[in-house]
Amino acid sequence: MERTIYMDNAATTKPRKEVVEAMMPYLEEYYANPSSMYGIAMENQKVIQDSRKLIADTLGAESEEIYFTAGGSEADNWALKGVAHANREKGRHIITTKIEHHAVLNSCKQLEEDGYEVTYLNVDEKGRIRLEELEDAIREDTILISVMAANNEIGTIEPVWEAARIAKARGVLFHTDAVQMYGQMPMDVRQLQADLISVSGHKFRGPRGSGFLYVRKGTKICPFINGGGQERGMRAGTENTAAIVGMAKAAELAIRTMNYRIRKETYQRNYLIRRILNEIPRVRLNGHPYYRLPSNANFCFEGIEGESLLILLEMKGICGSAGSACTTGNTEPSHVLIAIGLDEQTANASLRLSINEDITRKELDYVVEILKESVQSLREKSG
Ligand SMILES: *Cc1c(COP(=O)(O)O)cnc(C)c1O
Repeated sequence: MERTIYMDNAATTKPRKEVVEAMMPYLEEYYANPSSMYGIAMENQKVIQDSRKLIADTLGAESEEIYFTAGGSEADNWALKGVAHANREKGRHIITTKIEHHAVLNSCKQLEEDGYEVTYLNVDEKGRIRLEELEDAIREDTILISVMAANNEIGTIEPVWEAARIAKARGVLFHTDAVQMYGQMPMDVRQLQADLISVSGHKFRGPRGSGFLYVRKGTKICPFINGGGQERGMRAGTENTAAIVGMAKAAELAIRTMNYRIRKETYQRNYLIRRILNEIPRVRLNGHPYYRLPSNANFCFEGIEGESLLILLEMKGICGSAGSACTTGNTEPSHVLIAIGLDEQTANASLRLSINEDITRKELDYVVEILKESVQSLREKSG
């Protein structure tokens, strides 16, 4: 078998070598608890603050506005529940979208059980929310609007800059799950008027279990984990220094290589899309032709099962995804594909290929050939 062609970067990414190297000293040598009072502990405290500053700078934020978490799901849970709890005297209405990640959707579900009311915005057939619908959904008692920056399944980029301005004008807090956008596209809190931003380290070649929540100064939010005074009393627990250092290194490299990656990935991704649409019959591209993450391609192949296609691709060394990774193993069609108007059968015939900048033309040509064969053979089998 050929070597693995990894096209599932929206699920997770391979940590960069420099990231792993930056982490090692904090696992092997500087293992002390950052709160202790001797040299190797102080070294920990210092590198955590340096990492916080580095990450704040990538967003045009202040160090005090960055809170480290153990990933994107935690940041999403904290943003929603922390704001809901802190502002419950003001109101109990929250607005989000039908295409959010389950970390947001299931936090909303939990809040509904706790007596909050949630409005789920529709998206158009390309996956974008409509700003008029957002405007109309805002009420006296709305305390939070949460709209993802870019969708993890179909790659659609949402109008979060405009949505955040609307929220601000109406005096409502705005959160965005930017797990898919941070490190891939430029983001700056001086332009993006969000109050809260969720980020995950392992989506931009940092370590799994790292992440942060940006909280704009003055935002009313409750602590998420009670305990020691870590993260200024907002998120207790002995700091995972190695993960924090690794994520900061990944952020630094993501920013430094961003322009190159955007150009390269867009070019390669467009080539892949063009060939698949031209050479495979009865296929549709899901998502937006223009407002789209450079790394994302998502298709539906009429008359096949996405899961069966994945198995055939896997046998040829190609890693992709049918639906989002978090829902793999359950047969429910993707809530995102349903929200853009697909019927269940079409939604179950989907394939997401998410690339990084290292993919070559030769690999893409191989993938297209295998896809052609596999789709044809599955269609012949099902008659
Ligand atoms: C991956 C992902 C998450 C979850 O992040 P974890 O660090 O894996 O918890 C949340 N939102 C989106 C959009 C994602 O793609």
